[in-house]
Amino acid sequence: MPLHEGPRTDGERRMSVNPFYGPANPLGDMAGAPPTHRLPDLPMPPEIAHQLVRDELMLDGNARLNLATFVTTWMEPEAGLLMAECRDKNMIDKDEYPRTAELERRCAAMLADLWHVPDPATAMGCSTTGSSEACMLAGMALKRRWAKRNADRYPGARPNLVMGINVQVCWDKFCAFWEVEPRLVPMEGERFHLDPQAAAELCDENTIGVVGILGSTFDGSYEPVADLCAALDALQERTGLDIPVHVDGASGAMVAPFLDEDLVWDFRLPRVASINTSGHKYGLVYPGVGWALWRDADALPEELVFRVNYLGGDMPTFALNFSRPGAQVVAQYYTFLRLGRTGYQAVQQAARDVAMGMAARIEELGHFRLLTRGDELPVFAFTTAPDVTAYDVFDVSRRLRESGWQVPAYTFPANREDLSVLRVVCRSGFTADLAEILMEDLERLLPELRRQPGPLTRDTDAATGFHH
Ligand SMILES: *Cc1c(COP(=O)(O)O)cnc(C)c1O
Repeated sequence: MPLHEGPRTDGERRMSVNPFYGPANPLGDMAGAPPTHRLPDLPMPPEIAHQLVRDELMLDGNARLNLATFVTTWMEPEAGLLMAECRDKNMIDKDEYPRTAELERRCAAMLADLWHVPDPATAMGCSTTGSSEACMLAGMALKRRWAKRNADRYPGARPNLVMGINVQVCWDKFCAFWEVEPRLVPMEGERFHLDPQAAAELCDENTIGVVGILGSTFDGSYEPVADLCAALDALQERTGLDIPVHVDGASGAMVAPFLDEDLVWDFRLPRVASINTSGHKYGLVYPGVGWALWRDADALPEELVFRVNYLGGDMPTFALNFSRPGAQVVAQYYTFLRLGRTGYQAVQQAARDVAMGMAARIEELGHFRLLTRGDELPVFAFTTAPDVTAYDVFDVSRRLRESGWQVPAYTFPANREDLSVLRVVCRSGFTADLAEILMEDLERLLPELRRQPGPLTRDTDAATGFHH
């Protein structure tokens, strides 16, 4: 990561200082402007340091208007208070903070129950910094299991992981970091996620697993996990290959159990070995927490598990980090306790209602075509109608930004690189009232957009940066 952008001519950029920031004497107290890329020589009073940092952060976007992110941007003040009270707790110090460790264990047990593990006594689970770390852990477990089964051929044989091209970037990272070949099922026509049959066809004796996503970040759709398992059952009957499935439920594993109880996607399917979710997405906690669960001890090879002291004994841990904040795990427990099943159901249903209501209104405008309608994840993607030539989705995204709304526009991957979309992620805190204001802003923009001579965005790559 470059620490500086561009050539360092002065290398000595300094903060500009408002004379008022001098606590007593506006002329004298703030005479020295602190450097920005070098440790200042001298300390300064805390209130001045605080003000200087705040001034700079003022230009960050307003998180509540960020409809690009899946990550929680609003929690109750009580949750904020609890997190502040726990900010000194290190999650790895199980022995020093045994109650925090216990709350982590309870959260994992609640998720195991929610996701229908066959035997809670043998299921394994842990908190992580997010789904990315959880996916690394789950992927490592798949790889290790495959390596053990193929000890006579590995090293030598090259392991692969089968998934849709719509996977989140963490799976590209997993494959790059752990030297696993990604085998990607492309999009096709109006299918924007994994096709079970195509996935089964990509599997061979070196496939460590198949990833199913609930739901896709590209359009909010759920991948057909049960059909995927059925296709792999058929593959096993034909070839003897027994390929486990990991469900990336970063968002959907905290939506489907409350809103789509009849959808079978979790440990009820014997082929599902592990599931992850982001506590900080529809788990409704501020950034910094995820969860990974394994069906049973067989699904998580023992040699990957390390032990730390805990109440005179030891406690198994599985993590990439050592030290990590405990506050997010406490906040997750708070939220589980606070909402319960029906509370989660109400919150997720409200988000789905906003998404479906807004999607329907956008369709009614007549200038857009919906790809999804917010009835799976509370997320929908849409593109311009075929007869729209004056503007494109990148223009819409840029113009909405003028009113503070962050609605990402991006191009789909193979084989739909011809398709560019806008996506709206509805979360707790994005109310029907806020959605109404966004709709008014969009409707006001449309006449101007229609008067454009043609799409104005030149660098469409630049517009794709913030959709993951
Ligand atoms: C967000 C997301 C991830 C990455 O999760 P983080 O918690 O941000 O690390 C992985 N997979 C899917 C499907 C996601 O939506």
